[in-house]
Amino acid sequence: MTSSDTIHDVVIIGSGPAGLTAAIYTARANLSPLVLEGEPSSTSDQPGGQLMLTTDVENYPGFPEGVMGPELMMNFKQQAARFGADIRTVKASKVDLSERPFKIWVGDPEAPEPTHLSKTVIVSTGAQSLMLGLDRENELIGHGLSTCATCDGFFFRDHDIAVVGGGDSALEEANFLSRFASKVYLVVRRDELRASKIMQDRAHANPKIEILWNTSVTEYVGESKLESVKIRNNLDESISDLAVTGLFIAIGHKPNTGLFEGQLDMKDNGYLLTQPGRTATNIEGVFASGDVQDDYYRQAITAAGSGCAAALEAERWLEANDEGH
Ligand code: NDP
Repeated sequence: MTSSDTIHDVVIIGSGPAGLTAAIYTARANLSPLVLEGEPSSTSDQPGGQLMLTTDVENYPGFPEGVMGPELMMNFKQQAARFGADIRTVKASKVDLSERPFKIWVGDPEAPEPTHLSKTVIVSTGAQSLMLGLDRENELIGHGLSTCATCDGFFFRDHDIAVVGGGDSALEEANFLSRFASKVYLVVRRDELRASKIMQDRAHANPKIEILWNTSVTEYVGESKLESVKIRNNLDESISDLAVTGLFIAIGHKPNTGLFEGQLDMKDNGYLLTQPGRTATNIEGVFASGDVQDDYYRQAITAAGSGCAAALEAERWLEANDEGH
C-alpha cells in the first residue's frame, strides 16, 4: 500500500529550524524520523523555511561572527542526517489525522492509498510573509529587501530606509528601525493606519519617521542590491523615486496551514492552536512547532526551541501510548 508499508514512529512535515530541530532530537532518540522537507519554490514555503531567503543571521546564538541563513539551515540538515533522519525533498499534499496511524500523502492527493503512515506527526510547516508581488522580489530579499526588522535592522545604520504597511507590525518595525536608520519612511497605501492608537502615537512622535500617505511601492530599483524604489501616489497616480537602500515589507504573515484545515484547531488568524505552553494540538499524537503556531515571536531560535519541545512530547507520547515501541 504505502511506499514503505512501514508505520513510522514520527513524520515531520516541514524543514525550517523547528522541523529540523525536531528531527535532530527524534533521530537521537532512535525514532528514525521521516522529514518531508518540502520542494523548492519561489516563496518562503520551501525547504529550510524563511531563513533560506535571508543573508546574514547575526542573532542566532552560537555564531559570534554571524552566519548566512542558507548555511545555517544546511548545518541543521546535516546534523539531523548524521543521526539518521530520513529527509526527503517532497511536499505533503494531503493528511488524514482522523485515526491512527495517521495518513500522509505525497504527490497525487487523490491517490487511494496514502504514501506514509505514522504514529505521530510533528507539523512544522512555518509561515510566510505576505509580499508585494513585484518583479525581482525574491532576488532582492537579503539585498536591501527584508521582512524582518529584528533580523536586519542593524545593517542599515545611518541609511534612509522605508517600511511598507500601516498595521501594528509596520509601526513596530518602523520604531525599531529608527534606532539605526537616519530616516524611516512609512509607506501607507490609504489615508489611515490600521495600527493601534498607542503605536500610531509613538510613530507620530518619532522625529525620524515620515509617513507617506496614499502611497504604494511599484518597482524595486537596483541591480545586485536595492538602490531605490519607485512609488505611486494613489490619489493622482503620479510616480516618483524614493531614495532608500532598505525596504521592509510588513503587510502581514500567512501560516502554512492549508493542509490541516478542518482537522487541526486554529486561532482566528489561521495559526495552529496548541495547548498553553505545549506543542500538543487538539489531536493526540499530533504536535505543532515553529512559526505555524507562533504569531508572536517568529524567530529562528524560538522555532528551534519549539521543535525540540515537539520532539520531546512526541517521544513521551510514544512511550506512554505505543506498546510496540
Ligand atoms: P495587519 O493585517 O494588521 O496590517 C497589515 C497592513 O498592511 C495594513 O495597514 C494594510 O493596509 C497593509 N497592507 C496589506 N497588504 C498590502 C499591500 N499589498 N500593499 C500595501 N500595504 C498593504 O497585519 P500586521 O502584521 O501589522 O498585524 C497582524 C496582527 O498582529 C494584528 O492583529 C496586530 O494588531 C498584531 N500585532 C500586534 C503587535 C503589538 O501589539 N505589539 C505587533 C505586531 C502585530 P490596509 O489597512 O489598507 O488594509
